[in-house]
Amino acid sequence: MTAVDRIAIYPGSFDPVTLGHEDIARRGLGLADRVIVAVAHTATQSKKSLFSVEDRLRIMEEVFADNEGIECMSFQGLLVDFARSVGATMVIRGLRAVSDFEYEFQMALMNRALHPQLETVFLTPHQDYTFLSSSLVREVAGLGGDVSDFVSQPVLTQLATKRG
Ligand code: ADP
Repeated sequence: MTAVDRIAIYPGSFDPVTLGHEDIARRGLGLADRVIVAVAHTATQSKKSLFSVEDRLRIMEEVFADNEGIECMSFQGLLVDFARSVGATMVIRGLRAVSDFEYEFQMALMNRALHPQLETVFLTPHQDYTFLSSSLVREVAGLGGDVSDFVSQPVLTQLATKRG
């Protein structure tokens, strides 16, 4: 039997990456040999971003530097095309609460219609992170609040530069 690496993509905005995202990416390694944490260039243009895609990627590379098996990339266009280009067979998404479900369910079924062999897998984070979102981190940090319980040091460092 020939062993083929199981490659999973964990896509998102990661603006910025939180401990909830980190938790999901690490759990993903229980299912796949390689997890590609992928910053989307296009999918979330409706949201105003704090960090550029390049900055988000640099921060994530630092955050996941010690995790063999986790890689960071950015992608443009359709997730299914990116999945094909890297040979991924699985998409990982995080589910925090019922409020995440409808959008995630729609997207999973659309991605299946576009690429039937690509399975979407939902993982739940540690309960400490179920309330956590990048938008809340941006908001609290922007108002001068302490977010050190919610993001890693490289994120804190970059948030500080935004406050000037
Ligand atoms: P998107 O704009 O694609 O939702 P995000 O960066 O906000 O991008 O989230 C990426 C993925 O991670 C989504 O599946 C989201 O539900 C999940 N996620 C976000 N925050 C958390 C968290 N605290 N715990 C678990 N999953 C999370």
